[in-house]
Amino acid sequence: MGLLALGTPLPWNEAKRYADHVRYHGITQFLHTWNRLKERQGDELLWGDEIEYMVVVLEDAAKSARLSLRQTEILDKLSRIVDNISSECPKSISVPTFHPEYGRYMLESTPGSPYTGSIPDILSVEANMRYRRNLARKHLKSNEVPLTLTSFPLLGIPGQFTEPYYDPVGAISSHSLFLPQEITNPHARFPTLTANIRQRRGSKVAINLPLFVDAKTPQPFVDPAIPWERDIYPEDSDAKNGAALADHIYLDAMGFGMGCCCLQLTFQACNIDEARRMYDALIPISPILLALTAASPVWRGYLADVDCRWNVIAGSVDDRTDEERGLKPLRNSRFRIPKSRYDSVSLYISNDWKNRPDYNDIYTPYDEAIFNRLKDNGVDSLLAKHISHLFIRDPLVVFTETIDQDDKSSTDHFENIQSTNWQTIRFKPPPANSPIGWRVEFRSMEVQMTDFENAAFAVFVVLLTRAILSFHLNFYIPISKVDENMARAQLRGASALGKFYFRKNVHTQGNSGPSSGSASPVNGNGSHPVKEKKLRNCFPAPPHPENGINHEPVESEYEEMSMKEIMTGKGTNFPGLLGLVSEYLDTLDIPTDELRKINAYLDFIRLRSTGQLQTPASWIRDFVRSHPDYKQDSVVSQAINYDLLVAVDEIERGVRSAPSLLPKKYRGGHADQGSIGI
Ligand code: ADP
Ligand code: MG
Ligand code: MG
Ligand code: MG
Repeated sequence: MGLLALGTPLPWNEAKRYADHVRYHGITQFLHTWNRLKERQGDELLWGDEIEYMVVVLEDAAKSARLSLRQTEILDKLSRIVDNISSECPKSISVPTFHPEYGRYMLESTPGSPYTGSIPDILSVEANMRYRRNLARKHLKSNEVPLTLTSFPLLGIPGQFTEPYYDPVGAISSHSLFLPQEITNPHARFPTLTANIRQRRGSKVAINLPLFVDAKTPQPFVDPAIPWERDIYPEDSDAKNGAALADHIYLDAMGFGMGCCCLQLTFQACNIDEARRMYDALIPISPILLALTAASPVWRGYLADVDCRWNVIAGSVDDRTDEERGLKPLRNSRFRIPKSRYDSVSLYISNDWKNRPDYNDIYTPYDEAIFNRLKDNGVDSLLAKHISHLFIRDPLVVFTETIDQDDKSSTDHFENIQSTNWQTIRFKPPPANSPIGWRVEFRSMEVQMTDFENAAFAVFVVLLTRAILSFHLNFYIPISKVDENMARAQLRGASALGKFYFRKNVHTQGNSGPSSGSASPVNGNGSHPVKEKKLRNCFPAPPHPENGINHEPVESEYEEMSMKEIMTGKGTNFPGLLGLVSEYLDTLDIPTDELRKINAYLDFIRLRSTGQLQTPASWIRDFVRSHPDYKQDSVVSQAINYDLLVAVDEIERGVRSAPSLLPKKYRGGHADQGSIGI
């Protein structure tokens, strides 16, 4: 999770004195990058995934499944092993990297080097993910398993949910009623981040998820698991004084959100303009894929009426003051800020003519002095607005040792603000002292329980980015509608039941007309398409139409569509995202066998999007509700949790079948040939 500098972090009352210093030098650092690399061209498609795991201890005799807090030990061991495994590692896979995460039970892994656009590389993703999982598994204790669960169902229940047990009374950073201090990675950054968010905000974070009310759920539901009368920290009375709503699951700590796992993908673009086009096109896609990957229906031992983690994380790091949240008139704070630091994107940033000003239709506060400074230094308005919007935030963790930096060689201050703006899509400028170019990160997806599913989504999104760039697809809808989709995406059953705003005509011309996307590059004489052998970068922006654009009103450019329509098509004009990906594949020269393998992933995504296969969230909900121990009262017991997590592990390994979740051919993590025999 972002930058992990070493040093002595300042408590909030001291850190806040350096906010302007960090912002000023952060911008200086960005300007150095901008001046050096704004004209950089020709970077190839390199890309990578990030997968987060929870380490779970399964005690078969006691039928308990708990979070193992051995992250530090496990990472030590993995890094030692990783240093030594070059020989053990198959030739096709470079030695992977394991990273710490917020939760002390979490691990993150990334491929040792990014994938390229070659078809064999694209098809190596699943084996790479599985290799990483097995490597982690091999170095855990015999009763520990690395599970790719988005949210841990019993996090924060009364009693024991971690191994070993710790009491929440010692939660000195979060002041949580539910989560002990020891849930948090002990590296100074994480407890400080937790405490400084609470102090900056002026209160404990508060999230209320609607409860899934079942046949025998008491009504109204007043949660007996909340220690209503606890009196240790000043905020303990918050729950009683209205922070905890009836008929909701109340969550009061950063760990409930940042303790979730997700699947992220990062793509390098040819140049900054291509990165900006890709960024914009992925913005409307982010809620769609959040709904399609929904995987987190259980929170603090209760079934929720939502399927996704997003709003929990947004609330869990919401450091805005009452004034910024609009609860009080502005006195000490500088802006009214509509969103948390962890939230959906608020601005499209491409300079492409397709990006009509009307699409940026929500109030997006930005720091005017920073905006002007960026403009004065040659940054165009849209990018200046993006950066000066991110920079309305304060740095939350400031290390005494790194307050003064060489702005020419460091981007730490810039990254301090950038990496604590956790938005659905992140525009990643090139890091200091690195050969890496301009990149875009896709961050909304929930992690899937199997590497087959995770690989399928990785393959789908990388192909979609190529379809976007090569066909110059236009996915723009007003950003307020993307936000509405974010809210809808998280509702129970959104993928199967919901409707989402989507653009009707995705081909480049603003007004209706045939696809202007020329699928393939043409050869020397300008006529015969040359089929590419790999996915690539560098698709020049389409020229502005000569006769001007006959804009329709924005409102008539989009409509509500079901997931099935968005993914598989609607009417004769819109082939759906999967259709667009297939059209893109037609422009490539791919051997039949490899195409079959790619199609196996796309078929799975199609089945998920039509509802023929369930989302992980629906599958988990059904598992809980049909468990013999379930009393139709919304409660997920220790026994249900144990059986659920054993099932998840067995499904991943292919020991147990899950025909409503995975394709019939799925054979699991230990199959040599890929999990569905491909
Ligand atoms: P963060 O946590 O800041 O998002 P990570 O280092 O965890 O960053 O993940 C970065 C991802 O970017 C990894 O999947 C990695 O493989 C990938 N990556 C590394 N170099 C490049 C590159 N040049 N282009 C695209 N992706 C890259
Ligand atoms: Mg992470
Ligand atoms: Mg990471
Ligand atoms: Mg990331």
